[in-house]
Amino acid sequence: MRVPRAFVEEARGRCNPDEECAALLFGAGDAARRWAWMENAARSPVEFRLDPERVYRAIADAEQLGLELVAIFHTHPGAPVPSPLDLRHMAMWPVVWIIGDVRTMELRAWRLERGVLREVDIYIS
Ligand SMILES: [Zn+2]
Repeated sequence: MRVPRAFVEEARGRCNPDEECAALLFGAGDAARRWAWMENAARSPVEFRLDPERVYRAIADAEQLGLELVAIFHTHPGAPVPSPLDLRHMAMWPVVWIIGDVRTMELRAWRLERGVLREVDIYIS
């Protein structure tokens, strides 16, 4: 998964431990080119929930630009490894899931393939 450095810089600037922060990344293939920050409707430091209406609108806007949803990003208060709840959502949204440790902004990327969790290499450029 290729992620623009500018995205990581923005994440460092806006994500904090008060609540998990989230974004949708758009692009083509394994390269993210644009992103949309999403409000965490759960307002929780340990969980995130997205407003389906806003998700739909962000995806529709990206499609107008010829881009598709390639990854879902959110932060964790600790290790950037999918939680049991993440795994349930990953089954419904079969794109790459990028998780950032909010303390260090270490990013790891994951994909659920036929029920098997696999780590995806991440390249920041
Ligand atoms: Zn999570």
